[in-house]
Amino acid sequence: MAGQAETVSSLNADPAELQKFAALAHRWWDPGSEFKPLHDINPLRVDYIDRIAGLRGKRVLDVGCGGGILSESMAGRGAEVIGIDLGEKALKVAQLHKLESGANVDYRLVAVETLAQEQPQSFDVVTCMEMLEHVPDPSAVVQACARLVRPGGRVFFSTLNRNPKSYLFAVIGAEYVLNMLPKGTHEYGKFIKPSELSSWCRAAGLDVSGLAGMHYNPLSKRYSLGADVSVNYLLHAVK
Ligand code: SAH
Repeated sequence: MAGQAETVSSLNADPAELQKFAALAHRWWDPGSEFKPLHDINPLRVDYIDRIAGLRGKRVLDVGCGGGILSESMAGRGAEVIGIDLGEKALKVAQLHKLESGANVDYRLVAVETLAQEQPQSFDVVTCMEMLEHVPDPSAVVQACARLVRPGGRVFFSTLNRNPKSYLFAVIGAEYVLNMLPKGTHEYGKFIKPSELSSWCRAAGLDVSGLAGMHYNPLSKRYSLGADVSVNYLLHAVK
């Protein structure tokens, strides 16, 4: 891990949000932990990204990588991955896990906006999953991701939609009924409609070329990809 983060107060980051993830960081790679949903959706999203972008040999940036669940599996598909996050503890966990797994990932504590100034247009693929809904100004993150990808490159986001159903499933269901996530993990007001994310993409010079919903079936306890984007969804854009 290289680089020092600027003071958090000057960044597009919410210290309370970073603290939520820091408190749980040691549990990142425990598939039965609070991070279980990320482990469960991971094969679906890696397949989605790989199918569209063809990860082998690609230079990939994973923004808000946390403990590295997605970063490592993209490296497992043959990509050369850089993972960035502002959570120091998560990055330490990611770094330790990489020592065991030998994954081809380089982790850095740096803000996406800073990296966008340092090395614009230098990635074939940029991913930013389950992070925008934790950031004060998500449109600035979208803009930085767009700047980081090369022309013709691809950007993938995932986040939570904002409507009564997503409130019921992602907050009440996941945090209060199923106890899948700690209470307070998600703030409804920060959820993002696909129309909002799409307009931020367009404003940043990205063409939105796909949307896919990630569904959780509480009975089978399985996730699947589909057309219904009303709760958790993936967006794919091309520069
Ligand atoms: N993208 C990973 C982790 C999602 S959890 C995955 O899907 O598996 C959300 C992550 O966003 C946490 O690691 C948290 O530290 C990070 N995060 C929150 N605010 C951030 C910010 N402003 N800049 C960078 N990372 C941030």
